[in-house]
Amino acid sequence: MFRHVLTPPASAPGSIDAALADAAPTPFWLDDPARPGPRPRLRRPASADLAIVGGGFSGLWTALLARERHPDWDIVLAEGARIGWAASGRNGGFCAATLTHGERNGRRHFPDELDELRALGRANLDEIEQAIAVHQIDCDFSRSGALVVATEPHQVSWLRNEPGELLDADAVRAEVNSPTYLAGRYDQRDLALVNPARLAWGLARAAEEAGIRILEQTPVLGIGRNGTRLALATPHATITARKAALGTNAFRSLIRRIRLHTVPVYDHALVTEPLSASQLGSVGWRNRQGVSDLTNQFHYYRMTADNRILWGGYDAIYHYGRHIRTRYDQRPATTRILAEHFFQTFPQLDGLRFTHQWGGAIDTSTRFCAFFGTAHHGDVAYALGYTGLGVGATRFGAQVMLDLLDGEPTPRTSLRMVQSRPLPFPPEPLAYAGIQLTRRSLARADGRQGERNLLLRTLDRIGVGYDS
Ligand SMILES: Cc1cc2nc3c(=O)[nH]c(=O)nc-3n(C[C@H](O)[C@H](O)[C@H](O)COP(=O)(O)OP(=O)(O)OC[C@H]3O[C@@H](n4cnc5c(N)ncnc54)[C@H](O)[C@@H]3O)c2cc1C
Repeated sequence: MFRHVLTPPASAPGSIDAALADAAPTPFWLDDPARPGPRPRLRRPASADLAIVGGGFSGLWTALLARERHPDWDIVLAEGARIGWAASGRNGGFCAATLTHGERNGRRHFPDELDELRALGRANLDEIEQAIAVHQIDCDFSRSGALVVATEPHQVSWLRNEPGELLDADAVRAEVNSPTYLAGRYDQRDLALVNPARLAWGLARAAEEAGIRILEQTPVLGIGRNGTRLALATPHATITARKAALGTNAFRSLIRRIRLHTVPVYDHALVTEPLSASQLGSVGWRNRQGVSDLTNQFHYYRMTADNRILWGGYDAIYHYGRHIRTRYDQRPATTRILAEHFFQTFPQLDGLRFTHQWGGAIDTSTRFCAFFGTAHHGDVAYALGYTGLGVGATRFGAQVMLDLLDGEPTPRTSLRMVQSRPLPFPPEPLAYAGIQLTRRSLARADGRQGERNLLLRTLDRIGVGYDS
């Protein structure tokens, strides 16, 4: 349960219904007249030096970076649906420097290489900013920084482990005005905010300008061999290629042996109508930071360029059988909880309405950050497992995939983070039972001053535990 010491009166059920009544069941960022028209699907056999599977950030960064490394390569990218339609076009737009899903998770799994990972992550974020400028991608990228807020007394001491300037209750409320805030940390260095769909579309445009062929509605059904070359089967024709990079995220992997290494978990978000000048005045938020809280089931929220608030997180929903389904994008129970928490956090915005509600699948791995590898004798590389923090880290993953395909050691490929793999999830029905139990335990820990039960402590000990 989401409890605050200063819990304001919860909004009446009727007012939550009214606030959600007109919310379109579609991701806010994709509902944009700037969305490019469809690209062609593959109808005839094609051949390339490098075939990339997946048209989200992983695949798109791989395409652009491969062009920089290999100006003479013939590169084709095959996307099963539309560019940026999946996680990359429907996320919170928090583009973080961390490659390890935060400092604390990094310290847990890679304590010996934390400094190096931090430096690589910061360089990656700087390079994302540079690439956006070089390719003139209009995606509202801004280095707004992160505000982490404590909403319960026991969380105040946890702020010691967060980077940035420590703020007391008055100082944090002077940044963003919520009666629920008890303290905060303001990190101005390691987080940028972005319009993610426009970033994906801009990367695709830049890739095409660099001579890369992008196919939409072209799902790759399987990878085999045609002599010395790879053969990627699609519904109408085959792509033969020397090398392939897989940026398929939460979707069923084309490499059988890593299918148990991730589970698709649904994360949900809401966007409000634009705030009026007086509503804006009542929340402050002049520095427009990305905000998150410290519960295990945490919320994340931010302003959009047109002064709406995007509000997401909290519930993380796993559906039995590792399935990804369009109907899972909508979950009224989660939407209602999110809306209630929104008005508890910003009671002064009572009466504000939501215009968009949606969910999307994240590729959860047991170590909560990406893992990498190759298949087909080193000719196919993959990077996945970002667990809901891949807006920035997928560019690093793209570099790793290209390093692995080039076959030359680099500072990245010698990292333990790159060489090691997380433990897989068990098959069903154990996966479902285990995830539900863990979720319930995390929620209970949030309601008991963060105290972790035996299950969570055991998971922590074997290296698959997590706290936010
Ligand atoms: C609601 C939500 C909020 C999030 N918020 C944040 C955030 O604020 N910050 C952050 O860092 N991360 C966030 N994330 C996670 C982030 O969006 C992802 O980590 C990131 O976008 C992953 O990019 P990707 O390219 O690997 O995957 P995707 O964007 O999912 O792209 C994978 C693509 O591969 C295609 N594909 C799959 N299989 C095949 C196949 N066989 N053939 C052809 N195509 C195929 C799919 O159609 C899809 O387009 C969020 C995710 C969600 C769902």
